[in-house]
Amino acid sequence: MRVTLSPIHRRDKGISGTIAVLQDVTEQERLEQSRREFVANVSHELRTPLTTIKSYAEALDDGALSEPELGQRFVGVIRNETERMIRLVTDLLHLSRLDSNQAPLRRLATSVPDMLEEVADRFSFQMRKKQIRAAIRVEDGITSVWLDRDQIDQVLDNLVSNAIKYTLDGGRIEITAHKPGSTSIAISVKDTGIGIPRKDLSRIFDRFYRVDKARSRNMGGTGLGLSIAREIVKAHGGTVTLDSELNEGTTVTVILPMLQDGGDPS
Ligand code: ADP
Repeated sequence: MRVTLSPIHRRDKGISGTIAVLQDVTEQERLEQSRREFVANVSHELRTPLTTIKSYAEALDDGALSEPELGQRFVGVIRNETERMIRLVTDLLHLSRLDSNQAPLRRLATSVPDMLEEVADRFSFQMRKKQIRAAIRVEDGITSVWLDRDQIDQVLDNLVSNAIKYTLDGGRIEITAHKPGSTSIAISVKDTGIGIPRKDLSRIFDRFYRVDKARSRNMGGTGLGLSIAREIVKAHGGTVTLDSELNEGTTVTVILPMLQDGGDPS
């Protein structure tokens, strides 16, 4: 709470009273704190790959270049770290556009069965590599929905890519669509992966929050995938929820309003 006191001056009478303004600054402080955390996180996330790139470049300079096998490995590390930085900056720009409403939705009638088939196709190589089986189920009667296909593709890509990253070889992923009511559609991505501890569930959509930072980084993650998914779904007037059981698996469900004509839900 911030208290500001201002004296009331009356001509010839000096101070005749005081105005006290009580201001609740808790919300302001919370926002400022999360802004500071965000900047610290971004700096850290960029510094880590830069430090790695620097040390591997120095090692190449110091002689690793003359050993072809070692040199090649070091160049591979530099390329991976650079790609991760590009992904991070791309994700940050995307989030910033979403935050400032500079990513207007271009809704089109979109076939849900086709959209789900295509997301599974995009990841078929990665799933095959980990011997993960995928199943797609779409409830009868679900055909097309008005949505921004590019943006919802990004949501589905983030969810399916997480499901693959955090599922062990030989696991299973299900992508399903059903109607929880007459005015909305629910799309779920369910995996039989490592799951998320209960204590982390409440923060899992926070920017840069990861259960296991090292694991996420090794998998090429930026820690922004779920936050981006949530912002895109919110812009569509929908919600996204996550259920998880440690060592059993995770289900992420996106609920979108079924619009008749592409109009805004609000
Ligand atoms: P990341 O790039 O680290 O995957 P996300 O924002 O997509 O970032 O996810 C945040 C964290 O949530 C991940 O680091 C991981 O710990 C956890 N997570 C997300 N999806 C899953 C999943 N399907 N199974 C287990 N953990 C998950």
